[in-house]
Amino acid sequence: MKNINRIRCVDIINEVKLNLSLNDITVVFDDININEIPNKGIDSFLYFNTMDSEKEKEIYNSLSEEKKLKYKTSSCAIHYPNISAYELSSIYKNGDYTGLYDIINEMIKDLHINSYSSEIILVIFTFLHELGHWKQLAEFDYVVCDFNSHYYLDYQTEEKLSKRAEKLYEDYKEYHHLIEKLNPVDIQSLSEEEVRILEPFVFGLNRIQREYRNIPKEMEADNFAKKMLQNINLKTIIYSLTGID
Ligand SMILES: [Zn+2]
Repeated sequence: MKNINRIRCVDIINEVKLNLSLNDITVVFDDININEIPNKGIDSFLYFNTMDSEKEKEIYNSLSEEKKLKYKTSSCAIHYPNISAYELSSIYKNGDYTGLYDIINEMIKDLHINSYSSEIILVIFTFLHELGHWKQLAEFDYVVCDFNSHYYLDYQTEEKLSKRAEKLYEDYKEYHHLIEKLNPVDIQSLSEEEVRILEPFVFGLNRIQREYRNIPKEMEADNFAKKMLQNINLKTIIYSLTGID
């Protein structure tokens, strides 16, 4: 039996790809320093990129506006951090103040998958969410311009929300040292007064994250992930990974 804490995201995602016959889905596993994540959130390391090849971007940029409109990408990719499932889960739980860990768990709690390792499910769900974005692009036959203009309003909302988050961090810049203690290990060391100071900060980030999940583009990807989670053979995947039947 393998130690669940050591199972790497790459192995889980490869099992899911195998289970769903997703040979043509490119996933890039990026080496990251997990100590650098907390203030930016995991989003900056886990995303879908419509055009991942620098060479293709160059070619695309040299095209006429007319040709750009019809250009189909051949290098879309999902970026995923090259860490263990346990590390990913700890980042969501401890280093991300947006409440995303709870939001995801709320979304999947009705799927009757509680008996499986929550760390592994988190990896599978976040991967399937990005796969949902891949599917959105595929529906536009990989024409990036069509995809982008279809979700234009969503991108604008996303930008507004990320500006709001940036402003929150800016407003609480002087409490940076306290914000870093907002994790289960250190939170006890905060005084009642300090917790009171940070309340609007945490509340603000939670609200932004919930509004983000309501953006149609994101909601679609979440719904896709939920549907897929019910369709894949979790038992087989978990068995291949852990040897636990
Ligand atoms: Zn998304």
